[in-house]
Amino acid sequence: MTSIASNLQIDSARLWETIHETAKFGATPKGGVRRLTLGPEDKEVRDWFRNACESAGLTVQVDALGSMFALRAGRDMSKPPIGLGSHLDTQPTGGKFDGVLGTLAALEVVRTLNDAGIETEIPLCIVNWTNEEGSRFAPAMMGSAAYVGDFTSDDILARKDIDGVTVAEALDSIGYRGNSPVGTQKFAGFVELHIEQGPILEADGKTIGVVDSGQGVLWYDGKITGFESHAGSTPMPLRRDALATLSEIVLAMERIATSHGPKAVGTVGEAVIANPSRNVIPGAVAFTVDCRSADAAIMDALDRELRAAIAGIAARRKVEVTLDLVWRKPPTHFDPKLVDAVEQAAQALGYAHRRITSGAGHDSCNLNTVMPAAMVFVPCKDGVSHNELEDATQGDCTAGANVLMHTVLALAGVAS
Ligand SMILES: [Zn+2]
Repeated sequence: MTSIASNLQIDSARLWETIHETAKFGATPKGGVRRLTLGPEDKEVRDWFRNACESAGLTVQVDALGSMFALRAGRDMSKPPIGLGSHLDTQPTGGKFDGVLGTLAALEVVRTLNDAGIETEIPLCIVNWTNEEGSRFAPAMMGSAAYVGDFTSDDILARKDIDGVTVAEALDSIGYRGNSPVGTQKFAGFVELHIEQGPILEADGKTIGVVDSGQGVLWYDGKITGFESHAGSTPMPLRRDALATLSEIVLAMERIATSHGPKAVGTVGEAVIANPSRNVIPGAVAFTVDCRSADAAIMDALDRELRAAIAGIAARRKVEVTLDLVWRKPPTHFDPKLVDAVEQAAQALGYAHRRITSGAGHDSCNLNTVMPAAMVFVPCKDGVSHNELEDATQGDCTAGANVLMHTVLALAGVAS
């Protein structure tokens, strides 16, 4: 690599300014961002992003599900590009950094290379993946899941939000149903910068997380069927209480995940009593289960032990419990060569770094199933994310963007 390239640093002030400039699209009074995918605020940020990419000399394509691909030419255009980017949609009470940092840092990398007059050997392509958050439309990581073939475009286009609006209608309403079929843009590899969304880097005093793995995910929809009866006249031993059953299931989930800790988590995040009433013993309760681990054997154990515990609780309480599998995703092991490239970039730049597992799902976890992928994490304050209080320092964001740039330069090569 030329010495200009090896000493290159991104423009920290410019990156910070773009993060705050785009935070106005869907800004909330508490300093967060509400930018649901394919809504009016998402259109605003997409228009801003397309404009910024075109001003930086990139060619922007949009696929049939609205994911945006901004190509920067390389010397050898016969090769597929190195991809970099993340997502610009947020949770309903989201922050300024989740997804946004990775997408705008990718833009900053290109702006920095432009300013330095550096051409890469193979092209670069910035991506804004549609609907990473999964808040308005399920599934989460929708654009990248379709890209890797987990869902067909037609399946995704027919998905509806809570108001009955389909993905197709939402795309059309903001003018982002593109004409390139999903999967058209190929990549030699993909690198995503993201805030950690957890407390590990901050607690460990590290600036850069070299993400080598991502947790597998197991989601169930559960249903408990007991028997509704009078809260005053039904003796305790004769009850078939669905909510009391759920309380045992919640504690079983907690105990099982804790027993496999620290490499496992398990959560019952939703519970709905059918026809709730103060003086009726709950007869039917719906609930959800979310189990995660980066270790496939632990994932299997969580599943097995939870099912056994639930069977025991149901038999003892004479209720019926069903579990419907909603999603099962094996753990991600990011590409070793790309993970090494991230680590070497962090090392060469002199940032304190460590290997880390991603607790959350990311587009790169999907992408890693069809191409080499890796991620760079930076700390966020108190590990808080999916919250308007989400915060990260300018210094850490800058460090992450520099690691992203030098990883990408190492992978794409500098044209001499
Ligand atoms: Zn994200």
